[in-house]
Amino acid sequence: MNIPKDSDFSIHNLPFGVFSTSGTSPRVGVAIGDSIIDLAALVHKGLLDVPVEALEQPFLNNFIALGKSVTNGVRKSLQAMLTDEKAALKNLEAVFIKQADAIMHLPVDVRDYTDFYSSIEHATNVGKMFRDPENALLPNWKHLPVGYHGRASSIIVSGVDIHRPKGQTIPKDAKQPIFQASARVDFELETAFIVGKASQLGDSVSTKEAEDYIFGMVLFNDWSARDIQKWEYVPLGPFLGKSFASSISAWVVPLEALEPFRVAGPTQEPAVLPYLKYEGKKNYDIHLEVGIQPEGGAEHTVSRSNFKYMYWNMVQQLTHHTVNGCNVNVGDMMGSGTISGKTEDSYGSMLEIAWAGTKPVAMPDGSTRVFLKDGDTVIMRGYAEKDGVRVGFGEVRTKVLPAR
Ligand code: CA
Repeated sequence: MNIPKDSDFSIHNLPFGVFSTSGTSPRVGVAIGDSIIDLAALVHKGLLDVPVEALEQPFLNNFIALGKSVTNGVRKSLQAMLTDEKAALKNLEAVFIKQADAIMHLPVDVRDYTDFYSSIEHATNVGKMFRDPENALLPNWKHLPVGYHGRASSIIVSGVDIHRPKGQTIPKDAKQPIFQASARVDFELETAFIVGKASQLGDSVSTKEAEDYIFGMVLFNDWSARDIQKWEYVPLGPFLGKSFASSISAWVVPLEALEPFRVAGPTQEPAVLPYLKYEGKKNYDIHLEVGIQPEGGAEHTVSRSNFKYMYWNMVQQLTHHTVNGCNVNVGDMMGSGTISGKTEDSYGSMLEIAWAGTKPVAMPDGSTRVFLKDGDTVIMRGYAEKDGVRVGFGEVRTKVLPAR
């Protein structure tokens, strides 16, 4: 099989998703190059030994719930079949579907979604803008991965458009709020991990065990209406300024595919409490970027960041999440929090890039942006690359339509 060197979907990746074609039901597929491998079709041909009921499903949940021994077994079988020139797969064109001919669906039935706030650069920037430039981080920030419980019903897959949300905002120096379409619609560049194994109510998952519970990762655009958020968030945190939509990429990259890209995280000082200590490299070197494409115009890259900057890693997030005995389920989604780097060109939201509206971004068509305009499409991409091995996420693409 000929896969271009710059393809996100190399043989080292093999991410899982849910697709359909005209007149067929959604089912589990694996991306390879510009194609999709229809796993249920492989089972029906006797080339893969997996319960087909878990594959002929509108979500990955049942497949993921089979456990890593099965899902990794599928990866290994596919890798063997795709590299063996004599393998039966080579002559089985029926199991390959062109991605261009497929419709991608929301891959996971997310029951619970948590969003963290784990980038020290992002938390510092927001703290400087909204609170105290001298003490930007709140006292708890370096002691625990701050998070909140988000809304799962409005999680959408790449390609689904959103409408500008309406809500309460308070004009500068006004005493009373007004009701209007948000004037400050923003993206947040994030990744999210999908839980692959349930824990029991009352149990805690240790940092040693946590990776067993992480199935894989997606790109994640955590949409935010900054004006609604600013008025509503005290004292209980994000609500309608966040819950109108959250976009994820269609392909879930298994944690195992990211193995070659592990890197050490930043030093955590002061030292964390013993339950949050971990061993080994728990960050990943994943390039991330954000483009804005105005209606009818050219895409312009507004940020280049990296997942490796995260102060709190996924293992610590999951451990903290369960330390009180709160159980997690297969298909739960945990957002990283906005991933900003140290430099202005690596900030992960328009709030930071345009510094609360004070530094407009020039677009190729001569217009400027401080937040998003109607008709803007936001495109996020992510990939890891090392020693000729490339593992990518594809993209998450969402257009902002006028309020309705
Ligand atoms: Ca967020």
